[in-house]
Amino acid sequence: MIVVLRKDASPERIVEARDLLSKKGIDVRAVAWNNQTLLVTHQELAPEEVAELERNGITERVVNSTLRAQLASKEFQGKTSEVRVGDVSIGAMKLVIIAGPCSIESRTQFLETAHAAKRLGASLLRGGVYKPRTSPYDFQGLGDEGLPLLAEVREEVGLPIVTEVLAPEKVDLLSKYTDMLQIGARNMQNFSLLKAVGKSRIPVLLKRGMMATIDEWLQAAEYILLEGNPNVVLCERGIRTFEKATRNTLDLAAIPVLRKLTHLPVVVDPSHATGSRDLVTPMAKAAVAAGADGLMIETHPNPERAFSDSHQQLDLKEFGNLVEELEPVARAVGRLLR
Ligand code: PEP
Ligand code: MN
Repeated sequence: MIVVLRKDASPERIVEARDLLSKKGIDVRAVAWNNQTLLVTHQELAPEEVAELERNGITERVVNSTLRAQLASKEFQGKTSEVRVGDVSIGAMKLVIIAGPCSIESRTQFLETAHAAKRLGASLLRGGVYKPRTSPYDFQGLGDEGLPLLAEVREEVGLPIVTEVLAPEKVDLLSKYTDMLQIGARNMQNFSLLKAVGKSRIPVLLKRGMMATIDEWLQAAEYILLEGNPNVVLCERGIRTFEKATRNTLDLAAIPVLRKLTHLPVVVDPSHATGSRDLVTPMAKAAVAAGADGLMIETHPNPERAFSDSHQQLDLKEFGNLVEELEPVARAVGRLLR
């Protein structure tokens, strides 16, 4: 249950309300949420306890969700939340296209991709400096050396940037160079990382773990929300199934399922979901048709030479074609592309 306290509730009265529940043996947490305080518990409150809270003069409303991930739940916030990243809003009518290379390899590669991505319709840039690679022999990203490039390209091109964070101790440092932090599939249940990004207020793109159910994914999001960071966007990037024809299996049904369960915006990454360049555009269209709030598309000036994920990155012309082809699909489902 979530007890939403009024904005003008004094700190003393907040402590009083929290203690009232704690004394009854209820495990309750006070969460700073935008400019309000929430008292959150996974336990059900008895009707007389709810009535008592409602009488205390500082309770705005009491929310009960059947979902264990209370703060992520649709009952808490009925309509899709808009998460602001720089001057871009994810979860609004306008679809958000995040484009850029899998890894940042050099200044020229990132800058060229960034300029083209902007011109062709992307509103957010992506690019990894710390790469979570399956093999330790594979390119691990430019690391700390790549950080100034993020800031430089953001400044020069004028698009906000999302980049992956692998370790809790890098959250503050990375936040200086980027506008949104990505938690990759391999780290979806890295709880210390989730808590660390939760303590910051930077927007977070939380990718679905490759073996995660939707419920586990929402509970991972709850770790971030419970620390008081409301700026969470979910990213469906395919899950592992028995099917080998694609790198992963894109769970498109997750989009309408999430719409029912959560207010968090949902973007889809057809690049990692399919692992194959020729499948990216059809699945991007399908994702938009199914109601996604945005797409994440890996793009590279010369995918054949890419240091990572070379089979799935689109070249810049292919990316431009994808955006063109998306236009009628977006229109058909009442979304704007530009
Ligand atoms: C990526 O975005 O480059 C990436 C590694 O994605 P995922 O965590 O979905 O595999
Ligand atoms: Mn990649």
